[in-house]
Amino acid sequence: MKIIVNIIRALFLGLFLFIIAMGKPMLWLALFGVSLIAALLFGRIFCGYVCPMNTLMIPTEWLSKKLNIQTGRRPRWLKNGIFAWIALGITAVFMIVSKRLFKIDLPIMLVWLALSVLVTLRYKPEVFHNLICPFGALQRTFGRFAKFSQRVDKNSCIGCKMCEKVCLSAAIVVRPDDRKAVIDTSACHQCINCRQVCPTKAISYLSK
Ligand code: SF4
Ligand code: SF4
Repeated sequence: MKIIVNIIRALFLGLFLFIIAMGKPMLWLALFGVSLIAALLFGRIFCGYVCPMNTLMIPTEWLSKKLNIQTGRRPRWLKNGIFAWIALGITAVFMIVSKRLFKIDLPIMLVWLALSVLVTLRYKPEVFHNLICPFGALQRTFGRFAKFSQRVDKNSCIGCKMCEKVCLSAAIVVRPDDRKAVIDTSACHQCINCRQVCPTKAISYLSK
């Protein structure tokens, strides 16, 4: 399963680079727009399988851990979550101004791609996913209403926290009061990392 997921991610990364090389970033943004509607039904599939930033962040996180340079801290100035919305506004203004005034499509998504890798060299992936990524801010807004999502069967959960450790977007947390895991669908990328490690098979993709 992991191999298939990685092939899908690699194919979309290739498609992204091809579209950017062709100078048609609007095509990618159209795909992103469709993914927001899809998120209302199926959750943040785009983030888990299509997004080139996520695809590059996965090996970057591995490298960061290997080099022992990853920190568990979150920059304090990012904690209120406003930055991602400001980044979204700046990105939109840049794209509109460059298109209208200079008649060019600025490859700003390549800038975000580079930033996602740089940030993940130092911080856990959830910092970029949840606090910085302008596209993630939109996905979160739509993903919170997802009809289908990974969900935890409380009766099967033993509170072992294995799922927490492998979740790259900090979407699953074991509550201290009842020691049961819960998934925040607005943050969940539907990547199934948690399902693959859960010893009691407590996590499934289910309707609300
Ligand atoms: S890995 Fe499974 S059993 Fe362990 S806390 Fe997560 S959902 Fe519960
Ligand atoms: S590990 Fe589980 S909770 Fe975390 S993003 Fe992936 S599917 Fe969602």
